[in-house]
Amino acid sequence: MSVAMIEDVLRLRDITKSCPLCGRHFSRVGKDLEHVFPRWLQKRHNLWTRKLTLPNFVGRKYKSIRVSICPRCNNQRFGELERLISGLTANGDAFDAMAEVDDHQVAAWLGKIFWLLCRKSHVSVDPKAPRARKPTRVLDGEIMRGVTYLGVIERAHAMSRGMYACFRGDPPIPEYFYSEPYSLYRFRIDASDPNTEAFDFKDNPIVLGAAIRTGSFGVVCLYDGGLHRFFRSHWLMPLWGNALHPHQFNEVVGRIFYDQLVLDDAAQQVQYFWNRPLKAVVAMNATQRSYNPYLQENHDPLACAEFVARYVGAKVADLLTEEGNDIRTALVDDAGKFRTYPRQVV
Ligand SMILES: [Zn+2]
Repeated sequence: MSVAMIEDVLRLRDITKSCPLCGRHFSRVGKDLEHVFPRWLQKRHNLWTRKLTLPNFVGRKYKSIRVSICPRCNNQRFGELERLISGLTANGDAFDAMAEVDDHQVAAWLGKIFWLLCRKSHVSVDPKAPRARKPTRVLDGEIMRGVTYLGVIERAHAMSRGMYACFRGDPPIPEYFYSEPYSLYRFRIDASDPNTEAFDFKDNPIVLGAAIRTGSFGVVCLYDGGLHRFFRSHWLMPLWGNALHPHQFNEVVGRIFYDQLVLDDAAQQVQYFWNRPLKAVVAMNATQRSYNPYLQENHDPLACAEFVARYVGAKVADLLTEEGNDIRTALVDDAGKFRTYPRQVV
């Protein structure tokens, strides 16, 4: 536990030998071969033979993506969460029903799928993350916020521990300065368009973001130390209280992910502590609370259009304005108010 637990995640053990969630050795605790995308989700949306479009899984079918985890994680710690979410999203209004699942659980659930995909596809070998030296209470040095950051969140959840984020220079007052280590946004989806599918999943290991949509429930989560929530969530305000068309949700995902590409490199670093009274990992962002690390000088309209185009399935030229200095949006009108998505008349 504690610092040893954090170190163990950073070591990225062989997932054929130990549980990628709790880290316990299969030779001691046994293992279950599980679908990374839960069976109930595949069944509900008929995903079995559909192919995933993730960069590392081109041509792989959903049903073929499986990984071994230990029975305790499978049946208890994550299994209970799986059953809860499966039940709540089964009928009626999934968005409303999901209100009873707190953000931490949603982040851990979506994060589990994303983390297992990362481990399975080997993108978790993070060349930028130097091995931590032998620690006592604090892990020395700062490491890049690679996918291991998500691994630490999942490990903490698996071990019934907490994880918080704070900023460099914050006073040691947990109740004011420790917050969620992610930026999680829920959206109500208008699922009534027969021309769209009821399910979607998108992820991006570079920005450490994942999004899932099932029925009227859509969620986007960045495992970013809460940076986006703190500095960039203002542009999402016109969307709150409105139902997004699936195409609009795709644009939101693309834009949230793109935001992370303009981050100051300094903000990509993190230092881990173990807080004994809280029984929690504290991940300290390397930048200060007063410093906005989203750098406008890193923003490039063309790069943004190219990036978002992949998520919305549009041509880059159609997304760029005539002057080429901004990108068109289907989210808000010229006055910045939410715009209802125009339906195609069939
Ligand atoms: Zn486990």
